[in-house]
Amino acid sequence: MTERMGKELAKASILWGLLLGLVALLITLYLFFLILPTPVPSLVWQYFTSLDVERARRYQQVMRFSSLLAYLAKTGLLLWLWWSGRAAALSSGALRWSGQRYYLAAGLFFISIWLLLKAVNFPFAFYSGFILQHRWGFSTQTLASWWVDYIKASGIDLLLSGTGTLLFFWSTGRWPFTWWVAAGLFFAVWLLVETFLWPVVLAPLFNRFEPLKEGPVKSMVVALSERAGLKVKEVWVMDASRRTTKANAYFTGLGKTKRIVLYDNLLRDYSPEEVEAVVAHEMAHWKKGHIVKGLLWGMVGGFIFFVLLYDILRLTAPGEIIPGRPYPPHFLVITLVFLQLISFLAQPVENAFSRRQEAEADRVALELTRNPSVMVELHVDLARRNLQEVAPSAFIEWLTYSHPAPWRRIEAALKGGEKN
Ligand SMILES: [Zn+2]
Repeated sequence: MTERMGKELAKASILWGLLLGLVALLITLYLFFLILPTPVPSLVWQYFTSLDVERARRYQQVMRFSSLLAYLAKTGLLLWLWWSGRAAALSSGALRWSGQRYYLAAGLFFISIWLLLKAVNFPFAFYSGFILQHRWGFSTQTLASWWVDYIKASGIDLLLSGTGTLLFFWSTGRWPFTWWVAAGLFFAVWLLVETFLWPVVLAPLFNRFEPLKEGPVKSMVVALSERAGLKVKEVWVMDASRRTTKANAYFTGLGKTKRIVLYDNLLRDYSPEEVEAVVAHEMAHWKKGHIVKGLLWGMVGGFIFFVLLYDILRLTAPGEIIPGRPYPPHFLVITLVFLQLISFLAQPVENAFSRRQEAEADRVALELTRNPSVMVELHVDLARRNLQEVAPSAFIEWLTYSHPAPWRRIEAALKGGEKN
């Protein structure tokens, strides 16, 4: 080993140590606040009973534990594969077995890691997606239909992440020193294509969508879109009730595929005024260009990720990189460890960005409906029926909430109502 390599390795261990230390610190705090929730603000008791608060807290606690354990299991598996040398052994085994045909070996290596991760994650996916959903009375799915969903989603994931992985390795051979630019560009194009195609290609694989029928709700949507100054041609209704009793709505797509989607549960179980408040919120996302803003930041995030990855791989395994040749397949495992750690640390940033957009959408929605009491009613109903934790600890909200906590949304509606 040269002196330079030694220095690089030392630098790499410091960087990995820092990343692991930060994640461990956040997880410790997260566990602390999961086990010992903080008292809720007094505003909550005007709208919720202690039973409401307790039930939601228990449900969310189990869901959060399950997803934290799944994260730890996957990250632990990847670290073990890397540190025990098993990833490198599997990688050279695949190269030998395939007669040094690199892409065949990389493909086989990818599939083995994908299957291992899938197996480790399965108990948690089944527990939180099927068992818990039935236990808490949300799921309307049979076991068979859950399996159909699971297999379909896994197939899509295998295809897309497999293509992404091979493209990544190809770039490392094609542009040894600047592949991170190419990878960032591929990722940016993919984000654009995915956002555009998701509502018309991927979502229909799992749900049926029908345009909202003529009637009072449709007239309300038309009136609302005129007030918002938007050309909302179609609002779609999704058969969410085939899986869950939870209600929701979302705004999705890009350009021609832009659309507002309402869960059939929402139309069935909520008052017309509440549906209006929901539609106004989604229109506010539309009006403020939130998808495009999110997309642009996602692209910036992609470039940052790949340039950091380029650096850390170079420092971590300097002896194994041969310019002009793609990285050895087991670099996939190091890359996935890095992705696990970085995405955990990026959560608060992404969520802060998302919470700002959601608060803005709530504000604009209130300007459109001018009906703060219905807005309050909506947030109370949604939180109660979907078992959202109304007032989580500030730390949990900071780390994991993509929307402001329900009590903040209620408070904002009350304040907004005073101003109008
Ligand atoms: Zn929203």
